[in-house]
Amino acid sequence: PISLLKDPSLFKTDALINGQWVAGTARFDVNDPATGRKLADVANLGAKDAETAIAAANAAWPAWRSKTGKERHAILMKWYQLLMANQEDLGRIMTAEQGKPFAEAKGEVAYGASFVEWFAEEAKRVNGETLAQFDNNRRLMVIKQPIGVCAAITPWNFPLAMITRKVAPALAAGCPVVIKPAELTPLTALAVAELAVRAGIPAGVLNVLTADSSNSIAVGKVFCASDVVRHISFTGSTEVGRILMAQSAPSVKKLSLELGGNAPFIVFDDADIDSAVEGAMASKYRNAGQTCVCANRIYVQDGVYDQFVAKFAAKVKLLKVGNGFEDGVAQGPLIEDAAVEKVQRHVADAIAKGGRLQVGGHKLQGQFFEPTVISEATGDMLCAKEETFGPFAPVFRFKAEQEAIDAANNTEFGLASYFYSRDIGRIYRVAEALEYGMVGINAGVIATEHVPFGGVKQSGLGREGSSHGMEEYVEMKYLCLGDI
Ligand code: ADP
Repeated sequence: PISLLKDPSLFKTDALINGQWVAGTARFDVNDPATGRKLADVANLGAKDAETAIAAANAAWPAWRSKTGKERHAILMKWYQLLMANQEDLGRIMTAEQGKPFAEAKGEVAYGASFVEWFAEEAKRVNGETLAQFDNNRRLMVIKQPIGVCAAITPWNFPLAMITRKVAPALAAGCPVVIKPAELTPLTALAVAELAVRAGIPAGVLNVLTADSSNSIAVGKVFCASDVVRHISFTGSTEVGRILMAQSAPSVKKLSLELGGNAPFIVFDDADIDSAVEGAMASKYRNAGQTCVCANRIYVQDGVYDQFVAKFAAKVKLLKVGNGFEDGVAQGPLIEDAAVEKVQRHVADAIAKGGRLQVGGHKLQGQFFEPTVISEATGDMLCAKEETFGPFAPVFRFKAEQEAIDAANNTEFGLASYFYSRDIGRIYRVAEALEYGMVGINAGVIATEHVPFGGVKQSGLGREGSSHGMEEYVEMKYLCLGDI
């Protein structure tokens, strides 16, 4: 697939520090999850390189900060245009290293680029405030300034969008960034960085440190301990989020964390069932179930339960599984063997505890797993408590509205939730009762660049996207001007 790139120079395997491509002294392998074949050797950088990148970012900061918002807007818009002009190639690199179907990968390129476009616009709107004065001799105001050097640690499930969602607001606000992409998907990150260089983002303003899993831990420690790094944005597991938070305590660092989810998807008796089935398909099986907002637990009210399960299972049966480059494939491989094993464990546990297999249920060759639906799921199953992060949909039965709300909220997570109903009173009641940062009402896919994405409880801190996404990267400063 890589040989099919229109622009082979997007296929970068070295890291980017201070505008220089750095080969490093060690390399690590990046493999295609669909075939198991090696795609590339990538620079394996460590703690010392992280120090160098942070210093380069800090040195680049004054010039970047002193550009006007409109100047940064122009550079970011160029980057946006280059991302879109290279959508095919970026999608190809992404499918090769991540596995998602090519159409979905191209969709992610557009989604990821949309953050660059959005925050390019927001760069012009970092407005302060003038406050009422209590004393005629004084004038009070608030200005907003870039927070400083930012670090971003990103996951493999959205190799492009999770980078732009953090980097675009940081750059727009006037902050330089050091990125540590996931070790499983560094090639997309490097291609995106190459386009940033072509767009005219100055040396040192955007740095990419590629590292294998053990060096990623070392780099993370350097980010957390650094007094120069003022902000860390992380998307990944709750477990690693907790580690970063603990490691950041000594330097009292600002953190934006987008962690695990365990999304409930509730279908009430009064729902439009066909629409609910469509929503569940999109929410559950996108990216083979490997997104933090994927429906993890589907709760269906007694009166429509059998109808929903029959229609849902019939649609799931039609999903084509295979290499993401094949036509018509709706579900690619899972990212690694451990991911396949987790799905297997959840499915076996659900069956052992009385779940009824409606479709799928089996591991296929390599890292592929059948799209699976199990009905009569119950609260004692693993899938009720843990995020499966794979193509397995357990369907639970409930009777009363409150029962569904209680079950939905019975988790330490609080990222995305979904429910289907046509009753306006119920819509407000349930939307307000769900302890989640995001609620899809009669909608299974809700993320877009101009809404605040993020969670409550142990799903994280802060919001990404929208005008609120910019707030993470600026500090307010109160000015009190006396003796007027
Ligand atoms: P996932 O469960 O989605 O693989 P992880 O939380 O393990 O998510 O990884 C997300 C990102 O965090 C990756 O870039 C990974 O390299 C990085 N990472 C994992 N462990 C640490 C750590 N201890 N310190 C810093 N980064 C880490």
